[in-house]
Parts: sequence; C-alpha cells; structure tokens
Amino acid sequence: MSAPRVRFAPSPTGELHIGGARTALFNYLFARGTGGVFVLRIDDTDLERSRDQYIDKLVASMKWLGLDWDEGPYSQSQRLEIYREEAEILISGKLAYHCFCTTEELESGREAAKKEGRTFLYPGTCRNLSPEKREKLLAEGQKPVVRLLTPDNGQTVVSDMVRGEVSFENSGLDDFIIMKSNGLPTYNFASIIDDLKMEITHVIRAEEHLSNTPRQQLCAMALGYKLPIFAHVPMILAPDRSKLSKRHGATSVEEFKDGGYLPEALINYIVLLGWSPGGEEEEIMSMDELAAKFSLDKVTKTAAIYDVTKLTWMNGNYIRDYPIDQLISEALPFYENIELVTRPLEDNEQAYLEKVVETVRERAKTLAELAQVSTYFYRDDYDYDQKGAAKHFQKEGVADLLRQAAGSLLKLSLFNAEAAEEKFNNLCEELDISKGRLIAPTRLALTGRMDGPGLFAIMEVLGREKTAARLFRAAEFIETEF
Ligand code: GLU
Repeated sequence: MSAPRVRFAPSPTGELHIGGARTALFNYLFARGTGGVFVLRIDDTDLERSRDQYIDKLVASMKWLGLDWDEGPYSQSQRLEIYREEAEILISGKLAYHCFCTTEELESGREAAKKEGRTFLYPGTCRNLSPEKREKLLAEGQKPVVRLLTPDNGQTVVSDMVRGEVSFENSGLDDFIIMKSNGLPTYNFASIIDDLKMEITHVIRAEEHLSNTPRQQLCAMALGYKLPIFAHVPMILAPDRSKLSKRHGATSVEEFKDGGYLPEALINYIVLLGWSPGGEEEEIMSMDELAAKFSLDKVTKTAAIYDVTKLTWMNGNYIRDYPIDQLISEALPFYENIELVTRPLEDNEQAYLEKVVETVRERAKTLAELAQVSTYFYRDDYDYDQKGAAKHFQKEGVADLLRQAAGSLLKLSLFNAEAAEEKFNNLCEELDISKGRLIAPTRLALTGRMDGPGLFAIMEVLGREKTAARLFRAAEFIETEF
C-alpha cells in the first residue's frame, strides 16, 4: 500500500484557532507516525470572506507550532479549472444539471416550507429541463448554478474511523449546488474534488463537517472515485459546554503566542483534546513521542472540554524544563515589552538575563509572567508590599539590622548564594535572633515582595553592591516612614 496522504484545509477567514490547530496537529502526527505525506491546502473559494493576510497568519502560526507540511500550500482559487471540468463531466453524464431557479423562487419555497414547519429541500424543478429550454436560457445570458442529481430514496452511509457507520437518509439531501452562478465551486464540491485529485487517503477534520460528508461522498461516487477514509474529530467546548468563543478568552494560536505560551506546551495541551495515549502514561510528551504514539483509534467520540488552567499548568512545566537558550529567545520580546531590556543584548546583558531567568523560571507559568516576576532584577524603583512593610519593616531595630546585614555582606570577598547564606546564619547567631527576623525584611528590601525565589539566589544575581545598596535604602525608608 502506498503511503497515507492527509491534508489540513483551513479557510483563510480568520486566525488559526485551537480547533483548527488541533485538526492540523492530528493530521501532522498521523502523517509523521505513518511515514505519510501532509498536505496544506487553502480553502479560499469564499472570495468575500477570504483574506491574504489570514493566509500569512495561518502559515506563520503553523510554522510557530512546528507543524511543517510536505506539500503545498495549494490554493483552491488557483484550481478553479479543475472543478469546472469535473462539473462538466457530471453534467454531460446527466449526473448534474443546470438550475435557473431565481433567488425569489427559492425564497418563496423556503417561506412555504417554514410555514408548514418543514426544512426546505430543493424540489428538483430544473431536473428535467429540456435541452432547448436550457440553451435558450443560457443564450439569454442567465447564469445557472449546477446541482448534483441525488437519489430520492435510500441512504448514504458514511464510514467514519471515529464515529463508526453514520447513516443519512437521501430523502433529507436535496440536489445541492456544486457550482455557484459566479462559476465558483461550493465548499462541498471543491473539497471532495481536491481530496480525490490530491489522492488524500484519510480526511481527518472537525466533527462539524460530518454532516457535509454524505454530499461529498455522493459527488465522489457520481464521478466514480474511490472514497477516502473519513475521521471526524470531536468538538472542543468551553468549560460550560457551550461553543468555544472569544468570551472564553484567548482562542487563537497567535493570542496564545502573544500571551506567553510556548509552542510545545500548546501542542502538548491540544493533542489531549479528544485524544489520549491510553494507560497511565505521562501527560508531558514531545512532538516526536506524540508522532510515535498517535493513532486515530484513540480519538474519542465525546467532545473535549477546553481548560485554560491545565494549559497554563503545562506551559509552566515547559518553562521550567525548556533549554535555557531557547527559553531566552522566546522570552526576550516579553522582557522588551515591559522595558526591562532592549535588543540586541550585549554579552554581559545576555549573561545577566540568563541568571535571572534561571532564578525565576520555576515561578512563572507564562513568558509574560516570567518577565513580570523578573522586574526587580532590573529596576530599583519598586514599591514595598504594603502588608509586608507593615509587618516586617515596623519591628523594633529592623533598620539597624538591615544595615548590619549589608555591612557584613560587603565584607565578603567571594560573593555568592552560599557565602551570603553563611554570613546571614552567622549574623543571626551572633545577634541571637531567629533567621526569619532577618530574612523577611531582607526579602522585602531586595525585591519589594513577600514571595519569590530563594533569597540567597536573588542576592547572587543582584551582586554584592546592589544587594547592599538596597538594604541601606530600605533602612533609610524605614527610618523616614515609621
Ligand atoms: N475549509 C474547511 C474549514 O476550514 C475545511 C473543511 C475540510 O477539512 O474539509 O473548516
């Protein structure tokens, strides 16, 4: 058997959303895991809604996610001749026909159906138009649509790898339009023609397209093609089980990127929306592991629930374990955004940033947060946490204590976390005070905050002079304020 061929076929009518990204990912993983070919196709026959800028964004988002394709991007708008030819074949075989019904005629049929509480189905008015009549209307310059002649009875059965056999009554499918009066194909027609012509073996796509599949199958069968295998992957719903939308926060890949999510984390999270490797396996998986494990038979039928907390938790895991160089290059724009650094960085600035990132990375779940919790490494102008100041700066003798600590730290010839810690321990012993009495106000003095990474690690990054200067400054602040 030849290698599988799959495709991702986004419409360039908006940014790449997590639903689309997940469809792309499943196709990508399926191709990589089976030695198959992954095709990118742009479904841009909806001229009114398609925009070139969205093509660029889709492509950029896919690249950022690491979903590289083997063929394409093909554009349907460049393939119009192909659909026209196939439609002609159907017309000449009397499997499709021109329909001249006007919008008004169809509208009144629709109205009548509505009154009677039925869904409007095209009644086949132009099915038996005589060739003379048709030629006459064409000669008058009327622009017909092309409709597929569909069976009135029986069923069309879609055999789906996720959903099993799904049966559709042909009486519920009318002679639907395959070519519009402007000469452009409808989605159903263009999509299946491309799948057939591009020799797609597996159509893996969102469940919302399951109801289109019988129509696409009828087109393929009318043309005598072998059907691809279909796999419709479950919906992604918001936590309240409603359709995922803007009001649930970020939904597009670009928004997640701008929000400080790492591509690997997003991939790792979305792959679990509707698929699981089974067993008690690790949840954190690399793209290579995923490609080795992915299979369509583990795709679930039930809708997946989107949970940003889990995504953020996963992102935190990736931030903690990411190779430092890569983490820095992903994080730099966020540091620049809040004006902590300016690119390009000098070598010493790069080395400093590296130390900062290593010190705080465990505490951040997004890159935006990573930059945010690094602020005091770059700025002296932070305020002291009010509650913390009331509690720790107001104690008797704190200002002196901080000065004494600064003085002894300045005496260190080798200044690092261990040496600073030892100095602090000795000082506490000498003064016969608990470590907490010294550590809490020191933390507040050095960072303005009550939480953060290890205090001595912070000192090491700040360096001796800065550490001491901040302690002196806090002492002064205490004396003027309290
Ligand atoms: N262009 C369609 C969409 O973006 C793709 C449908 C398909 O995969 O066949 O939803």
